[in-house]
Amino acid sequence: MFKYPQDIEILIGIRGIERKKMKNLKRNDSEIYSMFVKELKRQRETIELIASENIASQAIMEAQGSCLTNKYAEGYPGKRYYGGCEVVDIAEAVAVERAKKLFNSRFANVQPHSGAQANFAVQLALLDPGDTIMGLSLSHGGHLTHGSPYNVSGKWFKIISYTVEEKTCYINYEKMEELALKHKPKLIISGGSAYSRIWDWERISKIAKKINAYHMADIAHYAGLVAAGVYPSSVDYADITTTTTHKTLRGPRGGLILTNNEEFAKKINSAVFPGGQGGPLMHVIAAKAVAFGEALKPEFREYQKQVLINAKKLAETLEKGNLKIVSGGTDSHVFLVDLRPLGVKGKDAQEALEKAGITLNKNEIPYDIEKPTITSGIRIGSPAVTTRKMKETEMVKIAEAIVKVLKNIDNKNVISDIRLDMLKLCNEFPIYKDLKY
Ligand SMILES: *Cc1c(COP(=O)(O)O)cnc(C)c1O
Repeated sequence: MFKYPQDIEILIGIRGIERKKMKNLKRNDSEIYSMFVKELKRQRETIELIASENIASQAIMEAQGSCLTNKYAEGYPGKRYYGGCEVVDIAEAVAVERAKKLFNSRFANVQPHSGAQANFAVQLALLDPGDTIMGLSLSHGGHLTHGSPYNVSGKWFKIISYTVEEKTCYINYEKMEELALKHKPKLIISGGSAYSRIWDWERISKIAKKINAYHMADIAHYAGLVAAGVYPSSVDYADITTTTTHKTLRGPRGGLILTNNEEFAKKINSAVFPGGQGGPLMHVIAAKAVAFGEALKPEFREYQKQVLINAKKLAETLEKGNLKIVSGGTDSHVFLVDLRPLGVKGKDAQEALEKAGITLNKNEIPYDIEKPTITSGIRIGSPAVTTRKMKETEMVKIAEAIVKVLKNIDNKNVISDIRLDMLKLCNEFPIYKDLKY
């Protein structure tokens, strides 16, 4: 790690963050308190391009950091195993109602602690160990919970992976169907973490019907776009839809399961609790209710439209700088960049960009020959910068900064200059203005 020049140190380091709130934590635990001060500062002063991250509202954080953390409420509203649940029942009932309305779904379970927990619950509800499941290959944009050997899905089930085409980097549904007919999985999983194009949910459901398989759509990444109606919804096609609540949906960290089928709903409820989880995180469920409320407002649709515009602008500008966008563009908030034209590895790109004040992650590109710890690509997402109210002009600045860093990856002066530019940009689009740690 090289040191920032002194003027940057002053700007980054000493610009007074008032330490008013969190006074109890400050008094009782200075070690963790000072961590909070640093992290708020880091979030305020870096350009966040990690596609799975966002910036939740202060209202959501207030709900989450609340007295509901004390409450045990095993069971479901009106049918709890503990007393004193009549008040927190309101949080869950409202969260469920809002989730159903938001996604136009007949049933919703808001208890999964995370996206991985939601996917586990579905697998527990529908499958037996030894069954075959089929999902998008992890190295082509799938997710660990869709059959990685290190995840319970890969340990308990036989895994068949479909892939994207080498030339186009689009999913080939004919090949997916062939694979499904050949291996007859009991569950087909659609959705992923690094696939930027539109999923044909209807087509996948048709394939699943042919072989009498279930179709679970994992919209963890697209949920906010789906809720806003700017990306196709899986809810009417897939048997079950799972998602996270903290990515494009911009809520607290958590999971959500949706279905229109009553029989599945019952099985899922039992699989979430007591199948895989104990007491629900009622403080998080209250925060989910707040997030769904925010997502039901018209401003949320405007936000998601801008998320799409910003992602396209970033991709376009990077292409002008001679970078290659996997599949040639994006239909969503996310895309992968192939760094090979510049001869840079994903790992080095991530590290240099972090020094320049831009946070993102290295990511395998389809048919990557580099190890997952090195990679030939990076993943970029627009949700967090769009929450800061940045628009096309800022996307051009950020993308040009990325190109400049990648073309000058060993030049400390260039990186320091860009760090300063990015800091200025962050200060023009501040977050958590009234939050004072
Ligand atoms: C992020 C993600 C998950 C897991 O969510 P966690 O909350 O991290 O457990 C599951 N599926 C997909 C496709 C994801 O992108």
